[in-house]
Amino acid sequence: MIEELLTKNKLWSAARKAAKPDYFERLSKLQRPEYLWIGCSDSRVPANVIAGLEPGEVFVHRNVANLIHPTDLNMLSVVEYAVHQLGVKHIIICGHYGCGGIRAAVSGERFGLIDHWLQPVRDVSSTCFECRESGGWSEADLDKLCEASIIEQVERLARTPTLRAAWQEMKDVSIHGWVYGLKDGLLSDLGCTVTRDRFAASPPCKSPSTAPMAT
Ligand SMILES: [Zn+2]
Repeated sequence: MIEELLTKNKLWSAARKAAKPDYFERLSKLQRPEYLWIGCSDSRVPANVIAGLEPGEVFVHRNVANLIHPTDLNMLSVVEYAVHQLGVKHIIICGHYGCGGIRAAVSGERFGLIDHWLQPVRDVSSTCFECRESGGWSEADLDKLCEASIIEQVERLARTPTLRAAWQEMKDVSIHGWVYGLKDGLLSDLGCTVTRDRFAASPPCKSPSTAPMAT
């Protein structure tokens, strides 16, 4: 029953106030999270719960299969605000084994609009793995594809103007790729962290030439 949610909320609020009388008063005045979490929409992967973080400690954006589309104004707005206004220090792109989005992307079936959304996963699958048209994708293959996709999304985010501007301004923000195991509840670091050092080693191109384009 949906009314149960409202009842549970009242109990939760009362418990928080009993433990810390000024809990909500303090939270309502300020949020200063150090982390931005970009994760999958899957209901089994709630950022605060699995990372053991309290309200106010993590800014969150979630979409199907935790993808970075360079034209996604929703995601870009979240990243822009988190990096340039909240000053987060760490951006965690977190995928998970057993992801339905990853599986759907390479299933060969047609699901509709989401087939367009999942194109970056297919792009990764075509460059990292041989096509398995005959036998399909094993669970182990899908796990590898899941990890490869997360690593690619870290790279995609690092290439956005928002992050490059942040590093140019010497902001201390890093991007991490993590994966979560539904079967054991554990987070693992995929070791693909990108820091400001990357930017220093590869500064952006100079401003484009103002010369008229050849037609
Ligand atoms: Zn998922």
